Amino acid sequence: MSNPKSLSESLSESLTINGRSYQPMQQPLVVVCVDGCEQEYINQAIQAGVAPFLKKMAEQGTVLSADCVVPSFTNPNNLSIVTGVPPSVHGICGNYFYDLETRQEVMMNDAKYLRAGTIFEAFSNAGAKVAVITAKDKLRSLLGHKMRGGICFSAERADQATLEQNGIENLLELVGMPLPSVYSAELSEFVFAAGVKLLETQRPDIMYLSTTDYIQHKYAPGTAGANAFYAMMDRYLTRLDTLGAAIGLTADHGMNAKTDSAGNANVIYLQDVLDAQVGVEKTRVILPITDPYVVHHGALGSYATVYLGGGSDAADLVHIADKIRAIAGIELVLTRAQAARRFELPPDRIGDLVAVSERLTVIGTAASRHDLSGLKLPLRSHGGISEQKVPLMFNRKLSAIPADHRLRNFDVFFLAMNNAQ
Ligand SMILES: [Zn+2]
Repeated sequence: MSNPKSLSESLSESLTINGRSYQPMQQPLVVVCVDGCEQEYINQAIQAGVAPFLKKMAEQGTVLSADCVVPSFTNPNNLSIVTGVPPSVHGICGNYFYDLETRQEVMMNDAKYLRAGTIFEAFSNAGAKVAVITAKDKLRSLLGHKMRGGICFSAERADQATLEQNGIENLLELVGMPLPSVYSAELSEFVFAAGVKLLETQRPDIMYLSTTDYIQHKYAPGTAGANAFYAMMDRYLTRLDTLGAAIGLTADHGMNAKTDSAGNANVIYLQDVLDAQVGVEKTRVILPITDPYVVHHGALGSYATVYLGGGSDAADLVHIADKIRAIAGIELVLTRAQAARRFELPPDRIGDLVAVSERLTVIGTAASRHDLSGLKLPLRSHGGISEQKVPLMFNRKLSAIPADHRLRNFDVFFLAMNNAQ
């Protein structure tokens, strides 16, 4: 077998990416973003004895808690993790937004919305072998933007991967799994199984594995369905560790029940409330959680942004903010400038107001626009400040982190490269 040069041999200097400096690695680095991984999922799986590797990480590596980005949604956080900076820099502040230039509500999946380079772009251009595997295809083009060579594919479209497009082909054969359903635990398992195969066969310098939160939307921490998922994950992490990878694990956001004691969803239909209280077409409520995969959350999360109609003035803004603040279940209402500052968001891509609901409550637009028929289990979702705490774990001991540093999930690459070797 050939003995390829390690990244640190071929790349001797650190790279500066979006103002942060990253040391080349001595061994392959695998960063895992476990979608919707409230810390309690890991704790419960360890307590149940089904996650021996995660337990070992706690004993022999490093376990920290970090803050994700608010809105605690998938795309803003995955992009923060792979750029090392918040949405105010990289521009992706939702899955979905109201484009003020075109005056249309659009998905934010297109790489044209990305305002910063990724860690993968920089390292692949410096000669590192990079592999990016995501569960859902919606993230693939953003994560792989401007990567030079390397491998980038989604489990969702694994059957369609080509050497030319994705840097790899015959994936189902290589991984030894059938194409998983987009609504399944297997979609995430495919990501882990493919990651292990790639580490065995190609040994990328940097690998990013990003799962889907299908299981976390359905099952609470400690339940059989959740523990089975973490036991599965634990087996693959064990294998990655045995193969010599440095592992950093974090989440894009947490997850909470959004229900009352009887399991009924606590929903504020904000567009209906505002239409009734301030008038029809005076406001436009945008839910940045919106994406094509709504079966497990009905497009309901704990964060919304509100655009005021033309002709609105400062007094209207105060009036409408007060109306929203008075609704039971609302935790916080901020103006555009306040939200951009507090949550580090791009002001041109959020509305005049930002509303965050409490832990057990979600925000919808109009009741007529949400199809909850796909929700067979009590609603669990995310988006708010209540889902901001996420795990930040390493299979290595870290050198000291300054005590005044606010730990973020998007520090995971930085800490793995600079503090774990
Ligand atoms: Zn997510």
